[in-house]
Amino acid sequence: MQDVYKDYGTNHVIKDVNLNVKNNEVVVLIGPSGAGKSTVLRMINGLETTTKGHILIDGADISQAHVDINHIREKIGMVFQHFNLFPHMTVLENVILAPVELKKADKAAATAEARQFLETVGLTEKADAMPASLSGGQQQRVAIARALAMHPDIMLFDEPTSALDPEMVGDVLQVMRKLAQQGMTMVIVTHEMGFAKEVADRVVFFDGGKILEQGTPTEIFDHPQEERTQAFLNKVL
Ligand code: ATP
Ligand code: MG
Repeated sequence: MQDVYKDYGTNHVIKDVNLNVKNNEVVVLIGPSGAGKSTVLRMINGLETTTKGHILIDGADISQAHVDINHIREKIGMVFQHFNLFPHMTVLENVILAPVELKKADKAAATAEARQFLETVGLTEKADAMPASLSGGQQQRVAIARALAMHPDIMLFDEPTSALDPEMVGDVLQVMRKLAQQGMTMVIVTHEMGFAKEVADRVVFFDGGKILEQGTPTEIFDHPQEERTQAFLNKVL
């Protein structure tokens, strides 16, 4: 993100954000409610336009009108707080839908691969279950498998555990930890500070639509430089 701004009318929600995410890097975005974290993720995914500035994905400037955003978006996996599985489809059907429909993948091959992704998220035995019969944590893990099925170059997570019962949170974080260990490039918005400390290569503190400071987990959690960061951490830690 280069000098990125986003306005909603007179509401300036993103102000001069510069953020560079490298291959295999795990970047965790933290900050108070309304800071602009979700907006940033939605902009990276092309779900929101930029008011000013540039967002480059692998060199392609998605802020340019002529760019084929759907093609670029195929390489970006997104996992939301609410998992949005297709309720009338089985777990397996949810996972193979995008590869088969968008990438025209062979159905048998996509199915075999989907079973591997279900194994990654620990849900092999749920392949034929309907989403409604799963717990929230299981549904979220299906949502992760569904994103992985598109072979994304980068995964974006927006508070993936916030809507879950506490006992489900660990399973989802465990899957994300595994992805990080496998070298997946990830941008994660989370309030799970213990997880951020352990998994993040870099922690970015947002406040008022700006990056106030960023650094290693040790720098941000143990030695924050800004008063606002300290105040925020005092509240959430
Ligand atoms: P939270 O931790 O509560 O999820 P956040 O950091 O993700 O907060 P955003 O959802 O990015 O914050 O919102 C940033 C600001 O942009 C807020 O002031 C919000 O009201 C505003 N905003 C977000 N989406 C829209 C929209 N579609 N129209 C108008 N204002 C919006
Ligand atoms: Mg948000």
